[in-house]
Amino acid sequence: MSKKILVLPGDGIGPEIMAQALKVLARLQRDFGLDIAIEHGLVGGVSYEAYGSPLTDETLLRARAADAVLLGAVGGTQWEALDISLRPEKGLLGLRSGLGLFANLRPAVLYPQLASASTLKPEVVSGLDIMIVRELTGGIYFGQPRGVRRLANGERQGFNTLVYSESEIERIGRVAFETAQKRGKRLCSVDKANVLECTELWREVMTSLAHDYPDVALTHMYVDNAAMQLVRAPKQFDVMVTTNMFGDILSDCASMLTGSIGMLPSASLNASGQGMYEPIHGSAPDIAGKGIANPIGTILSVAMMLKYSLGEPRLAGCIEQAVSTVLDQGLRTADIHTPDMRRVGTEEMGEAITAALG
Ligand code: NAD
Repeated sequence: MSKKILVLPGDGIGPEIMAQALKVLARLQRDFGLDIAIEHGLVGGVSYEAYGSPLTDETLLRARAADAVLLGAVGGTQWEALDISLRPEKGLLGLRSGLGLFANLRPAVLYPQLASASTLKPEVVSGLDIMIVRELTGGIYFGQPRGVRRLANGERQGFNTLVYSESEIERIGRVAFETAQKRGKRLCSVDKANVLECTELWREVMTSLAHDYPDVALTHMYVDNAAMQLVRAPKQFDVMVTTNMFGDILSDCASMLTGSIGMLPSASLNASGQGMYEPIHGSAPDIAGKGIANPIGTILSVAMMLKYSLGEPRLAGCIEQAVSTVLDQGLRTADIHTPDMRRVGTEEMGEAITAALG
């Protein structure tokens, strides 16, 4: 039976980059025997415009019924003044929590062809291959109570709550240990156990889980040190596991090691292997509509979808190889362009990768 994919292009550059991912999927369907049925839907600002909500119940139901969701990006300045419950980003958080997507896998891999596009010295980043496993449905982004309250003295006070239960830590820990088992067998758990009780518990649970994975070497690092080490000597890391907010920040930091935020895919998985796949960048309103966005992060998200939700690792490899071939050919979007290379737009990059599939 065909696997069902729900495609949600979203806002800003979302539709431009998604169009390229759809070209790749169409080619895999036509020439490589990929058996999928693609449905389309709205999320984010475009959904608010159409239905008055960034994520309708119907879209969430369709997402739940799909084997995988492929998402572009959401957000834009025109929706910033809306109440927080109606903002595009709420649609994304609604999908993550509504599908129970607790594990976010964010690889930061440097294609050797792009070593000179990184802001770090080539010898520091060449060969870089890190997997950041970020907890996605708990922590301070979801903890209650939260809000802004008025104190007795009339001053306003903002507050959020960092909260993790043992079971939440354990399930993300197991994903991280299993991921490390399939890679270099080294796992670094990142916390702030010296000042936050919640992450003291995080460290305790990770340490006790390590007994179940004797082949994986577990280390711990405080988040401030981890941020420093990521730019000082990033190749020391294999797999990193951390909380929702620390992972949000560290994975953006890691993305820049690879040359551009436009290069990186992500997978968000739930307990039954259903996943949502998206590039790690946002809707890039500053370049939307100009036809210059890099579609590679979205195309590599398709590869992750094939690997983690559709059971097609061979086709995932074809996509990764096609991206490498096109980079070898010297094609570069503006964000990864260097003077000796050929600058191309979003469409030309998408078409070249589709053609390079073989
Ligand atoms: P952003 O990731 O959209 O952009 C940051 C910078 O990177 C910009 O200069 C942008 O032009 C560039 N960039 C991003 N993707 C690119 C690509 N594919 N090719 C070339 N350059 C690219 O982050 P931001 O500017 O902080 O946020 C813009 C909007 O996106 C906001 O509304 C924010 O809330 C939203 N956002 C959405 C997501 C998501 O949908 N997952 C993630 C982050 C931010």
